[in-house]
Amino acid sequence: MRRAVFPGSFDPITLGHVDIIKRATPLFDEIIVAIGINAEKKYMWTLDERKSFLELTFKDYPTVRIGTYSGLTANYCKKENAQYILRGLRNTSDFTYEQTIGQANNSNFGVDSVFLMGSPEMSFISSSVVRDIARNGGDFSKLVPDAVK
Ligand code: ADP
Repeated sequence: MRRAVFPGSFDPITLGHVDIIKRATPLFDEIIVAIGINAEKKYMWTLDERKSFLELTFKDYPTVRIGTYSGLTANYCKKENAQYILRGLRNTSDFTYEQTIGQANNSNFGVDSVFLMGSPEMSFISSSVVRDIARNGGDFSKLVPDAVK
């Protein structure tokens, strides 16, 4: 079984994440969209809200499952028997950030990463842009799936 973990905070899930996950479904028997829980971090949406946004968004995708974890992503992959970490790349900053993490995960834990290039029309979308707009009472509905709206 070829299984990937797509890790993130998903605070909230955006159309950029949805694009990567949908495009990756033909590559894997199962994708676990996994919310990483960091006790030090403050989130705008609660864990239950973020989880239900993901569950609703992928309810018609039988090979997409939602999970939560704390600690190292590579350890979660081992626990779930996932051989791959799925990530999206928007630009060179994402690449630079992902490069060392991907290399470390491979050499330390034997977990390889698979990268998909973000679609150009989505490459400006990030959870932090959505949070900025939300914090200031703006309309972010074009950046998120229906479940978040
Ligand atoms: P976190 O909230 O933990 O920082 P992110 O939301 O930044 O997580 O990222 C989770 C994954 O989704 C990363 O691989 C990131 O590059 C990817 N991603 C986020 N937004 C986009 C987008 N607009 N296009 C392509 N990939 C994206």
